[in-house]
Amino acid sequence: MSTFQAPKGTYDLIPPRSAKFLAVREAISAPLKNSGYGYIETPGFENVELFARGVGESTDIVSKEMYAFETKGGTKLALRPEGTASVLRAALEANLHKAGNLPVKLWYSGSYYRYERPQAGRYRHFSQVGAEAIGAEDPALDAELIILADQAYRTLGLREFRILLNSLGDKECRPVYRDALQGFLRELDLDEDTRRRIEINPLRVLDDKRADVQKQLVGAPMLRDYLCDACKAYHEEVRELLTAAGVAFEDDEKLVRGLDYYTRTTFEFVHDGLGSQSAVGGGGRYDGLSEMIGGPELPSVGWALGVDRTVLALEAEGIELELPASTSVFAVPLGEEARRVLFGVVTELRREGIATDFAFGGRGLKGAMKSANRSGARYTIVAGERDLAEGVVQIKNMESGEQSAVALGRVVEELRSRLSS
Ligand code: ATP
Ligand code: MG
Repeated sequence: MSTFQAPKGTYDLIPPRSAKFLAVREAISAPLKNSGYGYIETPGFENVELFARGVGESTDIVSKEMYAFETKGGTKLALRPEGTASVLRAALEANLHKAGNLPVKLWYSGSYYRYERPQAGRYRHFSQVGAEAIGAEDPALDAELIILADQAYRTLGLREFRILLNSLGDKECRPVYRDALQGFLRELDLDEDTRRRIEINPLRVLDDKRADVQKQLVGAPMLRDYLCDACKAYHEEVRELLTAAGVAFEDDEKLVRGLDYYTRTTFEFVHDGLGSQSAVGGGGRYDGLSEMIGGPELPSVGWALGVDRTVLALEAEGIELELPASTSVFAVPLGEEARRVLFGVVTELRREGIATDFAFGGRGLKGAMKSANRSGARYTIVAGERDLAEGVVQIKNMESGEQSAVALGRVVEELRSRLSS
């Protein structure tokens, strides 16, 4: 293995592509910041029980994908595989739910870790932007989150995504359905692993991607037929609010999602240009999670959108984001004296907020002009001994090639006015 190789299932974000990741994080978080969500940041690792209890022992995330380890002090920790349990833990620890201001609305952005089989769109280290609205049961809140995610994807220019929507019922109707489903599943011809899943979390069997399993699932009892009146009404309200907002969705009765804690509203955003790793984001209501991790009853809803897959979706649709050029002005000194003078000008321009870069390393005019070109700067300032003797620098318009001498004391002002036109 080469020394210069990132660990399996990971990759580095490198310019210029890395700029897309920043832009995606910004595009996803902007609608949240604009809708009453406050920024929260939690540690990259937690006590392992938080996830074992919160995400669910029987989920793949906890049983197979979690990076769990013991510290030298004997504490059992895990790298965070997802954000919801941590955010809820932090909100409870800080008593945010007791401030009399429910729901507590929070957003986050960070790295997550899962020991998965690496493939296109599936990594061991990936990045999400997420939102959680804690402590309110209100269909408008579920709708709000779906609408904001839709807005985020649309401002990025994405078109080929779809919203899948389902209701998983609540603690009244779900157990009745669970019994019926278990009865049906126990009669099927399934492998050991799946049989175990029937007993722990039968709904997840419906999510099995294997064709031979899916074939046997035809005729399985559907949750839709078991939803209690309260869940039905709640779900209908969410659907109506989305429709009124002009957000298209598809009802997907089989959508259960990988985490154990979801209740009622569940949704997933899928992109049709991504092949088998098509989910760009997902979420739902988790009314029981707070109690599962030892907190009070706090009905909540949230989502997490995958930044990596959103970038892949942009690339699949051939969308070029309009990213501002990182450098507006590039300075090329010719000789020692010019180097000192122009470096001073560069510092001044930067303090004025003008994005400026400098030809470092004394590489001569040709190499320096190549760097100037590559930087994407609109103007290059060049100065040699003769210019300095005359008290001027040359400002070159990189697009037209036109060049003019400007008095040293007026360079900043001149560039500011040229750049703003
Ligand atoms: P999948 O079904 O693809 O495994 P998931 O249900 O495990 O996804 P969530 O836990 O809901 O995913 O995470 C939300 C989003 O985070 C996903 O829709 C996806 O965009 C992203 N994501 C999850 N796991 C990975 C991963 N291993 N690599 C890259 N992105 C990921
Ligand atoms: Mg997964």
